[in-house]
Amino acid sequence: MILKRLRRLAAGAIGLLCAASFNAHAQDVRLWQVSSGLLELDKGWLTAMSGVGTKIKVPVAMYVIKHPRGLVLFDTGNNVAVSDGKCANYWGEGLCGAFNAQQTRDEVIDRQLAKLGFRPEDVTHVVYSHFHLDHAGNIKLFPKAKHVVQKEELRAAWWPEKFQRAAYVLKDYEGTRDYDFLQLNGDFDLFGDGSLVALDTKGHTQGHQSLQVTLKNTGVLLLAADAIYTAENEAGVIPGITWNTNLSMQSIDRLKQIRDAKRGQIWYSHDAKQFGEHAHDRAYD
Ligand SMILES: [Zn+2]
Repeated sequence: MILKRLRRLAAGAIGLLCAASFNAHAQDVRLWQVSSGLLELDKGWLTAMSGVGTKIKVPVAMYVIKHPRGLVLFDTGNNVAVSDGKCANYWGEGLCGAFNAQQTRDEVIDRQLAKLGFRPEDVTHVVYSHFHLDHAGNIKLFPKAKHVVQKEELRAAWWPEKFQRAAYVLKDYEGTRDYDFLQLNGDFDLFGDGSLVALDTKGHTQGHQSLQVTLKNTGVLLLAADAIYTAENEAGVIPGITWNTNLSMQSIDRLKQIRDAKRGQIWYSHDAKQFGEHAHDRAYD
């Protein structure tokens, strides 16, 4: 009898502890999804051997996350210089032919922040999925922030394999080596409370990472970035433009396993349909 009561007490205490730690994860974290305009590209860049020759327009997802300990960005979109029809002036004809950026100045991350009531200098942390042109394009707008990147990605960005060079635009980040980089080697819990966890999803590039965000009401969001461009990749179509196909497919599986275990959602980087279904006039909390 006494043993039973003790057991029940212990179970109750553990339950309380779990609830307390969950609340700590999700406390007052808010997330907005925004887009750095559109990219017009051949569908085959996203889904290998599927839809080759078909031009599609896709969003360039970025995220603004307010946490009690800071204002965090996940990715920064296309460089400000490609705005308002000036793509070729900055990226050059070849890149703009492949990824025609349709971005107005108002869609650049600094103006997106302003629409939400923040200034670029309020940003404490910029987390990068990877250093491709549509993700790390605006690092120089945040010289005072802490920049959170996988170490392998930094190595790849500064000296990419020849076949990867086009998508790494060196002038986006030339001169930033003395910035405050938090160089990661695998998964990392950014504030130690489980609310924002960088997940190793290498494959698209050597140091690609996704971001797991735990929100009080919305639950777990897995911001896949280019580990999963679209729903088709999640369903098994091999992603185009990938450094290592086998690792890409393993990373897709990894995100799906975590999603299922946590009953969360996977948000893609370049899926017009899913992006359109999300709310953009309010924060997710
Ligand atoms: Zn991308």
